[in-house]
Amino acid sequence: MDMKPVLRLKNIVKRFGEFVALHGIDLDIEDGEFLTIVGPSGSGKTTLIRLLVGMDNPTEGEIWLRDKRIDTVPANARPTCMVFQSLALFPHRSVGENIEFPLKIRGVSKTKRKQRALELLELLRLPEHYYSKRINQCSGGERQRVALARALAFDPEILFFDEPLSALDYRLRKTLEKELKDLHERTGKTFVYITHSLEEAMVMSDRIAIMRSGRLEQVTDAEGIYARPVSRFVAEFMGEVN
Ligand code: ADP
Repeated sequence: MDMKPVLRLKNIVKRFGEFVALHGIDLDIEDGEFLTIVGPSGSGKTTLIRLLVGMDNPTEGEIWLRDKRIDTVPANARPTCMVFQSLALFPHRSVGENIEFPLKIRGVSKTKRKQRALELLELLRLPEHYYSKRINQCSGGERQRVALARALAFDPEILFFDEPLSALDYRLRKTLEKELKDLHERTGKTFVYITHSLEEAMVMSDRIAIMRSGRLEQVTDAEGIYARPVSRFVAEFMGEVN
């Protein structure tokens, strides 16, 4: 299949003073793929994803969204959305208000917002009456689903995830891994996901980009990880699982 990159990173360098956090990253992210960026703590994953969503600017290099250069475009003007570990929901507000929030700040009418929120509840397999349920009455898994619905509210082209499952217990994590993979298939959107867990990456992704010390060491699929474990991170992981 002839894949066109939706996002293209060209020689991305990020310095914090003297410290080089990213040493020239080149990466094409394909339209509709589930790409996971995996690597040990401190390898530069968060730094990279912050540049991709526009929370910070690269020191050098270019980021292209299709045929538009976006590394100078502010976060709120990009067709992307980020789901954080903390979820950042309003606990005393209803599920509906939380999902509608990104639409409200974009000036979408109340009727349209509600219609979209109800569609998203259905997509995330939450019952319709959850629309008026308060967040602090929802379980951990339900909150994750609400955060996903909110991220999808304005129909972003690309969804970014910053370790959204890492604070959860094992069973809930496993359930949500499946749900995320399923959501990816049902929406057809491009998902870019960061995690320090190679296991999580291998369960969900089409491709895995392995980072180490601010460099991309390997970009492959799950089978490639087993077939050609060049990365020390992978070798360590394989040592753990074997
Ligand atoms: P990861 O997400 O893979 O754990 P980070 O991207 O958070 O890694 O960090 C990569 C490196 O960049 C770390 O050594 C971190 O200390 C450094 N770093 C990140 N943000 C800053 C900053 N704002 N100022 C200085 N150093 C930073």
